[in-house]
Amino acid sequence: MTAAAAALTVTTVTGSTAPARAAVPAQASAPVGAAACSGYVGLTFDDGPSGNTTKLLDALRQNGLRATMFNQGQNAAANPSLVRAQVAAGMWVANHSYTHPHLTRLSQAQIDSEISRTQQAIANAGGGTPKLFRPPYGESDATVKSVAARYGLTEVIWHVDSQDWNGASTDAIVQSVARLTDGQVVLMHDWPANTLAAVPRIARTLASRGLCAGMISPRSGRAVAPS
Ligand SMILES: [Zn+2]
Repeated sequence: MTAAAAALTVTTVTGSTAPARAAVPAQASAPVGAAACSGYVGLTFDDGPSGNTTKLLDALRQNGLRATMFNQGQNAAANPSLVRAQVAAGMWVANHSYTHPHLTRLSQAQIDSEISRTQQAIANAGGGTPKLFRPPYGESDATVKSVAARYGLTEVIWHVDSQDWNGASTDAIVQSVARLTDGQVVLMHDWPANTLAAVPRIARTLASRGLCAGMISPRSGRAVAPS
C-alpha cells in the first residue's frame, strides 16, 4: 500500500467526524459516475522521475487519472522530492531497476543489486516499499523472476505497448489506450512529449467506454479498483 493509499484509508476511517470529506479522496477528484466503472485498466509510466514528471502528474490529476510509475532507482535517488510528488498525486510507485540494464545478461548478484537498491532508493525518498516490478525492455527469465520474488515483488510487463518510446504520435498513443480491455495494462513513459499531450484524450477515451484507471494488483498483476 502506498502512503497515499494509507492516508486515504485513515481519512475514511476517521470520516465519521467529517462525513462530507470522506466520500471524495483528495487527489482523485472522482468524476461523476466513478462508481459505474465497468472495468479498470492500468496506466503505467516508466523511467521517471525526471524533469518531465511534474507536468505529467499535473496532467493526470487534472484529468482524474491515477497511474503506476515504474521508477528507475537512480532517478528516484536523484529526485526524491519527485517520488514524494508521485505519491502525493495519488500514483502508485514501482520498481524498474536501478540503472535500466538488460537484466537477463547480468549475474544473479548484479540483478539482486539492481532490484534491491531501487527498493531502497524509493523507500528512502518516501515512496514506500514497492510491490510491483517491471524489468527494463520487458526482458525477464527465471533468475530475474526469482530475485524479484525474493523482494516481494510481482513482475508486471504489459498487454499493450503504446510505442511512445519509439516516436508514436499522440493519436497513436490514444489509440493504444483505446484497445485496452478490463484488467489490462498499457506501457507508456515518463518522458515523451506526445504522451503528456495524450493524457486528456486518454481520460476521455476511457470515460467513453466506462473504464477507469485502476491500480495493478500485486496478486494478479492486472488492473483492479483502487483499494
Ligand atoms: Zn524503461
